[in-house]
Amino acid sequence: MRALCWNGVNDLAVQTVPDATIVNPRDVVVQVTLSSTCGSDLHFIDGYLPGAAPGDVIGHEFTGRVVEVGPEVSRVRVGDRVVVPSFIACGSCWYCERELYSLCDTTNPHAAAQQPVLGYPTGGIYGYTQPFGGYAGSHAEFIRVPFGDVNCFTVPDAVDDTTALFASDALPTGFMGADLCGITPGDTVAVFGAGAVGLMAAASARLLGAERVIVVDRVPERLEMARTRVGAETIDYSAVDSVQEQLRESTGGRGPDAVVEAVGMEAHGTGAQHVVDRAKQALRLETDRATPLREAVLAVRKAGTVVVLGVYGLTDSFPTGVVLNKGLTLRAAQQHGQRYAPRLLEHLAAGELATSFLATHPMPLEDAVRGYELFKDKSDGCVRAVFAPSGT
Ligand SMILES: [Zn+2]
Ligand SMILES: [Zn+2]
Repeated sequence: MRALCWNGVNDLAVQTVPDATIVNPRDVVVQVTLSSTCGSDLHFIDGYLPGAAPGDVIGHEFTGRVVEVGPEVSRVRVGDRVVVPSFIACGSCWYCERELYSLCDTTNPHAAAQQPVLGYPTGGIYGYTQPFGGYAGSHAEFIRVPFGDVNCFTVPDAVDDTTALFASDALPTGFMGADLCGITPGDTVAVFGAGAVGLMAAASARLLGAERVIVVDRVPERLEMARTRVGAETIDYSAVDSVQEQLRESTGGRGPDAVVEAVGMEAHGTGAQHVVDRAKQALRLETDRATPLREAVLAVRKAGTVVVLGVYGLTDSFPTGVVLNKGLTLRAAQQHGQRYAPRLLEHLAAGELATSFLATHPMPLEDAVRGYELFKDKSDGCVRAVFAPSGT
Protein backbone atom coordinates (compact mmCIF):
# COMPACT_ATOMS: atom_id res chain seq x y z
CA MET A 1 0.00 0.00 0.00
CA ARG A 2 1.04 3.64 -0.40
CA ALA A 3 1.90 5.66 2.69
CA LEU A 4 3.69 8.83 3.83
CA CYS A 5 6.88 7.88 5.67
CA TRP A 6 9.37 9.74 7.88
CA ASN A 7 12.83 8.91 6.58
CA GLY A 8 14.89 11.41 8.58
CA VAL A 9 14.74 14.99 9.88
CA ASN A 10 12.62 17.01 7.43
CA ASP A 11 12.70 14.08 5.02
CA LEU A 12 9.24 12.74 4.15
CA ALA A 13 8.27 10.60 1.16
CA VAL A 14 5.20 8.80 -0.16
CA GLN A 15 6.30 5.23 -0.78
CA THR A 16 5.09 1.65 -0.90
CA VAL A 17 5.00 -0.17 2.46
CA PRO A 18 3.62 -3.54 3.64
CA ASP A 19 -0.19 -3.66 3.91
CA ALA A 20 -1.87 -3.16 7.28
CA THR A 21 -3.10 -6.50 8.62
CA ILE A 22 -4.84 -8.03 11.63
CA VAL A 23 -2.15 -8.88 14.22
CA ASN A 24 -4.24 -9.50 17.34
CA PRO A 25 -7.77 -10.99 17.51
CA ARG A 26 -9.30 -7.69 18.66
CA ASP A 27 -7.75 -5.67 15.77
CA VAL A 28 -9.67 -3.97 12.99
CA VAL A 29 -8.27 -2.81 9.64
CA VAL A 30 -9.67 0.48 8.38
CA GLN A 31 -9.41 1.75 4.82
CA VAL A 32 -8.49 5.39 5.35
CA THR A 33 -10.84 7.83 3.61
CA LEU A 34 -9.28 11.05 4.96
CA SER A 35 -6.22 11.75 7.08
CA SER A 36 -5.06 15.13 8.34
CA THR A 37 -1.80 16.87 9.21
CA CYS A 38 -1.50 17.87 12.88
CA GLY A 39 0.78 20.47 14.49
CA SER A 40 2.20 17.86 16.84
CA ASP A 41 3.61 15.96 13.84
CA LEU A 42 5.98 18.86 13.20
CA HIS A 43 7.81 18.15 16.47
CA PHE A 44 9.27 14.88 15.27
CA ILE A 45 9.39 15.75 11.57
CA ASP A 46 11.89 18.50 12.39
CA GLY A 47 13.74 16.36 14.94
CA TYR A 48 12.85 18.16 18.20
CA LEU A 49 10.97 15.14 19.49
CA PRO A 50 13.29 12.14 19.23
CA GLY A 51 12.35 8.55 18.52
CA ALA A 52 11.01 8.48 14.96
CA ALA A 53 12.58 5.66 12.95
CA PRO A 54 13.26 5.84 9.21
CA GLY A 55 10.35 4.28 7.34
CA ASP A 56 7.76 5.07 10.05
CA VAL A 57 4.31 5.72 8.55
CA ILE A 58 3.06 8.96 10.11
CA GLY A 59 -0.36 10.54 10.71
CA HIS A 60 -2.85 10.11 13.58
CA GLU A 61 -6.06 11.95 12.67
CA PHE A 62 -8.28 9.94 10.35
CA THR A 63 -11.63 8.54 9.35
CA GLY A 64 -12.41 5.57 7.11
CA ARG A 65 -14.30 2.39 6.49
CA VAL A 66 -13.79 -0.96 8.26
CA VAL A 67 -12.56 -3.62 5.81
CA GLU A 68 -11.48 -6.44 8.14
CA VAL A 69 -12.17 -7.42 11.74
CA GLY A 70 -10.36 -9.87 14.02
CA PRO A 71 -12.16 -12.94 15.44
CA GLU A 72 -12.70 -11.32 18.89
CA VAL A 73 -14.23 -8.08 17.56
CA SER A 74 -17.94 -8.04 18.33
CA ARG A 75 -19.33 -4.50 17.98
CA VAL A 76 -17.58 -3.19 14.86
CA ARG A 77 -18.53 -4.66 11.49
CA VAL A 78 -16.98 -4.68 8.02
CA GLY A 79 -18.40 -1.74 6.07
CA ASP A 80 -18.87 0.53 9.11
CA ARG A 81 -17.92 4.17 8.53
CA VAL A 82 -15.85 5.08 11.56
CA VAL A 83 -13.75 7.76 13.17
CA VAL A 84 -10.88 6.71 15.44
CA PRO A 85 -9.30 8.81 18.25
CA SER A 86 -5.57 9.37 17.82
CA PHE A 87 -4.59 7.74 21.13
CA ILE A 88 -5.09 3.99 21.36
CA ALA A 89 -7.03 2.70 24.37
CA CYS A 90 -7.51 -0.85 25.64
CA GLY A 91 -10.79 -0.01 27.38
CA SER A 92 -10.14 -2.11 30.46
CA CYS A 93 -7.02 -0.92 32.35
CA TRP A 94 -7.13 1.28 35.51
CA TYR A 95 -6.89 4.47 33.41
CA CYS A 96 -9.34 3.43 30.68
CA GLU A 97 -11.89 2.46 33.36
CA ARG A 98 -11.66 6.09 34.58
CA GLU A 99 -12.03 7.45 31.01
CA LEU A 100 -8.42 8.70 31.00
CA TYR A 101 -7.85 6.98 27.68
CA SER A 102 -4.67 8.69 26.49
CA LEU A 103 -3.01 7.41 29.68
CA CYS A 104 -3.86 3.78 28.86
CA ASP A 105 -1.41 1.43 30.56
CA THR A 106 -1.77 -1.33 27.99
CA THR A 107 -1.35 0.06 24.49
CA ASN A 108 2.25 1.29 24.48
CA PRO A 109 4.56 -1.64 23.73
CA HIS A 110 7.55 0.71 24.02
CA ALA A 111 6.66 1.95 27.51
CA ALA A 112 10.21 1.37 28.71
CA ALA A 113 11.43 4.09 26.36
CA GLN A 114 9.07 6.67 27.89
CA GLN A 115 9.33 5.73 31.53
CA PRO A 116 12.70 7.39 32.26
CA VAL A 117 11.42 10.70 30.84
CA LEU A 118 7.84 10.82 32.14
CA GLY A 119 7.97 8.61 35.22
CA TYR A 120 5.11 6.56 33.78
CA PRO A 121 4.36 5.89 30.12
CA THR A 122 1.39 7.19 28.09
CA GLY A 123 -0.86 5.13 25.85
CA GLY A 124 0.15 4.41 22.27
CA ILE A 125 -0.63 6.75 19.40
CA TYR A 126 -0.76 6.09 15.68
CA GLY A 127 2.17 7.31 13.59
CA TYR A 128 3.89 9.19 16.39
CA THR A 129 7.42 7.86 16.98
CA GLN A 130 8.67 4.66 18.58
CA PRO A 131 8.45 5.82 22.25
CA PHE A 132 4.71 6.48 21.67
CA GLY A 133 4.23 2.87 20.62
CA GLY A 134 5.70 2.63 17.13
CA TYR A 135 2.25 2.08 15.55
CA ALA A 136 1.92 2.69 11.80
CA GLY A 137 0.09 5.95 11.11
CA SER A 138 -2.91 6.99 9.09
CA HIS A 139 -1.36 8.71 6.08
CA ALA A 140 -1.78 5.38 4.31
CA GLU A 141 -4.38 3.45 2.34
CA PHE A 142 -5.07 1.18 5.31
CA ILE A 143 -4.39 1.26 9.04
CA ARG A 144 -4.48 -1.35 11.80
CA VAL A 145 -6.65 -0.24 14.74
CA PRO A 146 -5.99 -2.28 17.91
CA PHE A 147 -8.93 -2.95 20.30
CA GLY A 148 -11.32 -2.10 17.48
CA ASP A 149 -14.46 -2.26 19.64
CA VAL A 150 -12.99 0.37 21.98
CA ASN A 151 -11.47 2.70 19.40
CA CYS A 152 -13.86 2.78 16.40
CA PHE A 153 -16.88 5.11 16.58
CA THR A 154 -19.61 4.85 13.95
CA VAL A 155 -20.15 8.08 12.03
CA PRO A 156 -23.83 9.06 11.67
CA ASP A 157 -25.12 9.42 8.08
CA ALA A 158 -25.71 13.13 8.66
CA VAL A 159 -21.98 13.72 9.23
CA ASP A 160 -19.82 13.92 6.09
CA ASP A 161 -16.27 12.53 5.93
CA THR A 162 -14.49 15.87 6.27
CA THR A 163 -16.58 16.81 9.29
CA ALA A 164 -16.05 13.38 10.89
CA LEU A 165 -12.28 13.50 10.29
CA PHE A 166 -11.64 16.13 12.96
CA ALA A 167 -13.61 14.18 15.58
CA SER A 168 -10.45 12.03 15.66
CA ASP A 169 -8.06 14.55 17.19
CA ALA A 170 -8.52 18.33 16.79
CA LEU A 171 -12.13 18.48 18.01
CA PRO A 172 -11.84 16.15 21.03
CA THR A 173 -8.59 17.87 22.03
CA GLY A 174 -10.19 21.31 21.82
CA PHE A 175 -13.43 20.14 23.44
CA MET A 176 -11.52 18.55 26.29
CA GLY A 177 -9.64 21.85 26.74
CA ALA A 178 -12.92 23.72 27.10
CA ASP A 179 -14.32 20.98 29.36
CA LEU A 180 -11.28 21.21 31.69
CA CYS A 181 -11.89 24.97 32.05
CA GLY A 182 -14.90 24.16 34.23
CA ILE A 183 -16.92 26.88 32.51
CA THR A 184 -19.79 28.48 34.41
CA PRO A 185 -22.33 30.93 32.91
CA GLY A 186 -20.86 34.40 32.39
CA ASP A 187 -17.26 33.15 32.07
CA THR A 188 -14.71 34.62 29.70
CA VAL A 189 -12.34 32.09 28.15
CA ALA A 190 -9.21 33.12 26.27
CA VAL A 191 -7.70 30.68 23.78
CA PHE A 192 -4.06 31.10 22.78
CA GLY A 193 -3.54 29.74 19.27
CA ALA A 194 -6.01 29.67 16.38
CA GLY A 195 -4.83 26.47 14.76
CA ALA A 196 -7.37 23.68 14.44
CA VAL A 197 -7.19 22.72 18.13
CA GLY A 198 -7.49 26.33 19.32
CA LEU A 199 -10.45 26.98 17.02
CA MET A 200 -12.16 23.83 18.27
CA ALA A 201 -11.47 24.81 21.89
CA ALA A 202 -13.03 28.22 21.21
CA ALA A 203 -16.11 26.73 19.53
CA SER A 204 -16.48 24.21 22.37
CA ALA A 205 -16.15 26.91 25.04
CA ARG A 206 -19.08 28.71 23.44
CA LEU A 207 -21.10 25.48 23.28
CA LEU A 208 -20.35 24.84 26.97
CA GLY A 209 -21.72 28.23 27.93
CA ALA A 210 -18.86 30.74 27.99
CA GLU A 211 -20.26 34.23 27.60
CA ARG A 212 -17.15 35.52 25.85
CA VAL A 213 -14.39 33.71 23.99
CA ILE A 214 -11.25 35.63 23.00
CA VAL A 215 -8.82 33.99 20.55
CA VAL A 216 -5.18 35.14 20.39
CA ASP A 217 -3.02 34.47 17.32
CA ARG A 218 -1.12 36.40 14.68
CA VAL A 219 -2.18 34.72 11.40
CA PRO A 220 -4.87 36.89 9.77
CA GLU A 221 -6.76 34.02 8.06
CA ARG A 222 -6.96 32.12 11.35
CA LEU A 223 -8.17 35.14 13.31
CA GLU A 224 -10.79 35.64 10.61
CA MET A 225 -11.94 32.03 11.07
CA ALA A 226 -12.15 32.57 14.83
CA ARG A 227 -14.46 35.51 14.25
CA THR A 228 -16.61 34.20 11.40
CA ARG A 229 -16.72 30.42 12.07
CA VAL A 230 -16.61 30.40 15.85
CA GLY A 231 -18.03 33.79 16.79
CA ALA A 232 -15.04 34.62 19.01
CA GLU A 233 -13.42 37.98 19.65
CA THR A 234 -9.78 38.11 18.56
CA ILE A 235 -6.44 39.67 19.50
CA ASP A 236 -3.56 39.80 17.00
CA TYR A 237 -0.60 39.47 19.38
CA SER A 238 1.82 40.83 16.80
CA ALA A 239 -0.16 44.09 16.73
CA VAL A 240 -0.37 44.79 20.47
CA ASP A 241 2.29 45.66 23.06
CA SER A 242 1.02 43.16 25.61
CA VAL A 243 -1.58 40.42 25.26
CA GLN A 244 -1.89 40.39 29.04
CA GLU A 245 -2.76 44.12 29.11
CA GLN A 246 -5.22 43.70 26.27
CA LEU A 247 -6.99 40.83 28.02
CA ARG A 248 -7.05 42.69 31.31
CA GLU A 249 -8.53 45.79 29.71
CA SER A 250 -11.23 43.86 27.88
CA THR A 251 -12.32 42.04 31.07
CA GLY A 252 -12.82 45.03 33.33
CA GLY A 253 -9.37 44.67 34.85
CA ARG A 254 -9.85 41.14 36.20
CA GLY A 255 -8.54 38.91 33.42
CA PRO A 256 -10.14 35.89 31.76
CA ASP A 257 -11.57 33.16 34.02
CA ALA A 258 -9.70 30.51 32.07
CA VAL A 259 -7.01 30.39 29.41
CA VAL A 260 -6.56 27.47 27.03
CA GLU A 261 -3.00 27.23 25.71
CA ALA A 262 -3.23 25.59 22.28
CA VAL A 263 0.10 26.56 20.75
CA GLY A 264 2.87 24.44 22.25
CA MET A 265 6.48 24.57 21.30
CA GLU A 266 5.92 25.72 17.73
CA ALA A 267 5.20 29.15 19.22
CA HIS A 268 6.30 32.33 17.54
CA GLY A 269 6.30 34.75 20.47
CA THR A 270 7.61 38.25 20.81
CA GLY A 271 9.86 39.78 23.46
CA ALA A 272 13.22 39.08 25.03
CA GLN A 273 12.37 35.80 26.76
CA HIS A 274 11.23 34.38 23.46
CA VAL A 275 14.52 35.30 21.80
CA VAL A 276 16.40 33.49 24.57
CA ASP A 277 14.14 30.45 24.24
CA ARG A 278 14.53 30.42 20.50
CA ALA A 279 18.32 30.60 20.70
CA LYS A 280 18.41 27.78 23.24
CA GLN A 281 16.17 25.69 21.07
CA ALA A 282 18.31 26.30 17.99
CA LEU A 283 21.29 25.05 20.00
CA ARG A 284 19.23 22.04 21.20
CA LEU A 285 19.88 23.13 24.81
CA GLU A 286 16.19 23.15 25.53
CA THR A 287 13.39 21.83 23.38
CA ASP A 288 10.76 24.37 24.39
CA ARG A 289 9.79 27.87 23.52
CA ALA A 290 7.37 28.32 26.37
CA THR A 291 6.16 31.87 25.68
CA PRO A 292 2.42 31.16 25.30
CA LEU A 293 2.34 29.03 28.45
CA ARG A 294 4.01 31.76 30.51
CA GLU A 295 1.66 34.35 29.01
CA ALA A 296 -1.33 32.17 29.84
CA VAL A 297 -0.26 31.89 33.48
CA LEU A 298 0.28 35.66 33.70
CA ALA A 299 -2.91 36.63 31.84
CA VAL A 300 -5.48 34.44 33.59
CA ARG A 301 -7.31 36.02 36.54
CA LYS A 302 -6.37 35.15 40.13
CA ALA A 303 -7.74 31.71 41.07
CA GLY A 304 -8.34 31.08 37.38
CA THR A 305 -7.69 27.93 35.35
CA VAL A 306 -4.99 27.37 32.74
CA VAL A 307 -5.46 24.38 30.45
CA VAL A 308 -2.40 23.21 28.52
CA LEU A 309 -3.15 21.52 25.19
CA GLY A 310 -0.01 22.57 23.31
CA VAL A 311 2.68 19.91 23.14
CA TYR A 312 5.82 20.74 25.10
CA GLY A 313 9.01 18.94 25.98
CA LEU A 314 10.51 19.58 29.41
CA THR A 315 10.67 23.29 30.06
CA ASP A 316 13.05 25.00 32.47
CA SER A 317 11.27 28.33 32.58
CA PHE A 318 7.82 27.60 33.94
CA PRO A 319 6.60 30.29 36.39
CA THR A 320 5.73 28.02 39.32
CA GLY A 321 5.74 30.95 41.75
CA VAL A 322 3.06 32.74 39.74
CA VAL A 323 0.82 29.65 39.82
CA LEU A 324 1.18 29.51 43.61
CA ASN A 325 0.72 33.19 44.37
CA LYS A 326 -2.28 33.57 42.05
CA GLY A 327 -3.86 30.38 43.33
CA LEU A 328 -4.23 28.97 39.85
CA THR A 329 -5.54 25.62 38.73
CA LEU A 330 -3.36 24.10 36.05
CA ARG A 331 -4.86 21.29 33.98
CA ALA A 332 -3.45 19.41 31.01
CA ALA A 333 -3.89 16.21 29.09
CA GLN A 334 -3.39 14.53 25.81
CA GLN A 335 -6.86 13.99 24.45
CA HIS A 336 -9.19 11.38 25.92
CA GLY A 337 -11.07 11.08 22.61
CA GLN A 338 -12.97 7.91 23.46
CA ARG A 339 -14.66 9.79 26.33
CA TYR A 340 -15.97 12.51 24.03
CA ALA A 341 -16.48 10.88 20.60
CA PRO A 342 -20.17 9.81 20.93
CA ARG A 343 -21.21 13.21 22.27
CA LEU A 344 -19.16 15.09 19.66
CA LEU A 345 -20.61 13.06 16.78
CA GLU A 346 -24.09 13.97 18.06
CA HIS A 347 -23.17 17.66 18.18
CA LEU A 348 -21.78 17.42 14.63
CA ALA A 349 -24.87 15.61 13.33
CA ALA A 350 -27.07 18.31 14.91
CA GLY A 351 -24.97 21.10 13.41
CA GLU A 352 -24.06 22.42 16.86
CA LEU A 353 -20.37 22.19 16.07
CA ALA A 354 -18.66 22.57 12.68
CA THR A 355 -15.24 21.27 11.71
CA SER A 356 -14.98 20.94 7.92
CA PHE A 357 -13.75 24.53 7.45
CA LEU A 358 -10.46 23.40 9.00
CA ALA A 359 -9.72 21.31 5.89
CA THR A 360 -8.32 24.21 3.89
CA HIS A 361 -6.13 22.05 1.64
CA PRO A 362 -7.60 18.70 0.54
CA MET A 363 -5.29 16.71 -1.74
CA PRO A 364 -4.34 13.18 -2.83
CA LEU A 365 -1.94 11.24 -0.59
CA GLU A 366 0.68 11.41 -3.35
CA ASP A 367 0.91 15.19 -2.68
CA ALA A 368 1.40 14.78 1.07
CA VAL A 369 4.99 16.09 1.14
CA ARG A 370 3.80 19.36 -0.37
CA GLY A 371 0.86 19.31 2.03
CA TYR A 372 3.19 19.25 5.04
CA GLU A 373 5.23 22.12 3.58
CA LEU A 374 2.11 24.26 3.19
CA PHE A 375 0.96 23.30 6.67
CA LYS A 376 4.30 23.95 8.35
CA ASP A 377 4.71 27.36 6.71
CA LYS A 378 1.02 28.23 7.28
CA SER A 379 1.18 29.47 3.67
CA ASP A 380 -1.82 30.00 1.41
CA GLY A 381 -4.07 30.23 4.48
CA CYS A 382 -3.38 26.58 5.33
CA VAL A 383 -4.95 25.40 8.59
CA ARG A 384 -4.91 21.69 7.78
CA ALA A 385 -3.78 19.72 4.73
CA VAL A 386 -6.06 16.70 4.35
CA PHE A 387 -5.10 13.62 2.34
CA ALA A 388 -7.41 11.15 0.62
CA PRO A 389 -5.37 7.92 0.60
CA SER A 390 -8.13 5.83 -0.95
CA GLY A 391 -8.67 8.27 -3.78
CA THR A 392 -12.21 9.18 -2.81
ZN1 LIG B 1 -2.72 15.65 16.75
ZN1 LIG C 1 -6.25 1.03 28.84
